[in-house]
Amino acid sequence: MSIKITKECINCGACEIECPNQAIYEGGKAWKMSDGTSLKKNGKDFTIFQKPIKQNIYFIVSEKCTECVGFFDKPQCIEVCPVNCCILDKKNEETKKYLKKKYFFLHKKKIYD
Ligand code: SF4
Ligand code: SF4
Repeated sequence: MSIKITKECINCGACEIECPNQAIYEGGKAWKMSDGTSLKKNGKDFTIFQKPIKQNIYFIVSEKCTECVGFFDKPQCIEVCPVNCCILDKKNEETKKYLKKKYFFLHKKKIYD
């Protein structure tokens, strides 16, 4: 991931509905790789529920965030957050090439069919 949500999050939910990869979840919610992606085999969901990453504020699943590569020119969560708490995670940078690969992994059904 190169985007993270800081503790300033006010839990408004604006970012969650804008994320094209469904990589953003409300605090305390379990998540799956298949939510909003094409990670299925023969039409069946083979991914499992994972524990929430944060309990009290929204969080981003790094494995699902492509910085919106494949959908938009700019990260949509950064664009819509009213308190600017979606920020680049400088300690966890990913190249555009890697982000594009991640996009294909998440959304190209042919890899799994
Ligand atoms: S940058 Fe895009 S893909 Fe990543 S969490 Fe934000 S909205 Fe979702
Ligand atoms: S838009 Fe910003 S304040 Fe609202 S839930 Fe997302 S990260 Fe939190």
